[in-house]
Amino acid sequence: MTSSYIGRFAPSPSGRLHFGSLVAAVASYCDARANDGKWLVRIEDVDGSRTVDGAADDILRTLEGFGMYWDGNVVWQSQRSELYGEIVRSLKSKGQAFDCACTRKQLLGQKLYPGFCRNGLPDGVEGRSVRFLTPVEDVQWSDLILGNQKSRSGTESDFIIKRADGYFAYHLAVVADDEEAGVTRIVRGEDLLESTPAHIHLQNALGYSTPEYAHFKLALNDKGTKLSKANKAQPVEIENASEELGRTLKFLGIEGVTRDEPGKMLIEACSKWTL
Ligand code: GLU
Repeated sequence: MTSSYIGRFAPSPSGRLHFGSLVAAVASYCDARANDGKWLVRIEDVDGSRTVDGAADDILRTLEGFGMYWDGNVVWQSQRSELYGEIVRSLKSKGQAFDCACTRKQLLGQKLYPGFCRNGLPDGVEGRSVRFLTPVEDVQWSDLILGNQKSRSGTESDFIIKRADGYFAYHLAVVADDEEAGVTRIVRGEDLLESTPAHIHLQNALGYSTPEYAHFKLALNDKGTKLSKANKAQPVEIENASEELGRTLKFLGIEGVTRDEPGKMLIEACSKWTL
């Protein structure tokens, strides 16, 4: 029997893979393999201003060096502007998105978008960004790790789907790409939990199905903050793959995997994987 499971790992190429992103890669990989599913890789380079030259290739080489091979071709968000543009147009034509002329300065101090442009722009005023007209209803879903979740009302109010600098926004790209790839389960870190209601709102507006979500706890540095490229987390090196993988598996609660070459360690680890 072939499984209909499709999972993915979606790194942003703003730097090399570090321990935190390795955890995300291994968790999504093992969940896919344990479910006899496909594991896709998508390079989230939609925000060209954050892309670091060479980082995407380095990430892909590192995944291979750690024994993680993806199914199908790697998807690059930077090549998909046409699709994103069509989706924005269709949302606008259905009144589910609107042009916004607000500048950062005008919105200074506002926690939520105050709705200035929600009812249209005055004559002669040009839109800068495009916002999604977010329904006021709460979104609820059952996270496979965290249990029942409910968005705090309005926290994602009228978020941007096309930015003033011309780039499409992460929320839009991720929802479009997961739908097109037929992703059935998203395993990712808790740092993205607060994005999930926005994604579900967009999926609903576009008539897409909502995948299952599993948000795992994040790896923190010794100051208790998230490991990220922005705060200079050390990259993982292929030369130390077995050791790094051992640490990663321990972090994810998979014990007793024999130290070996990474591919073999992963086979053993994935056979022990449960969410
Ligand atoms: N590109 C995002 C990141 O690197 C992950 C997005 C996702 O998994 O939905 O943090």
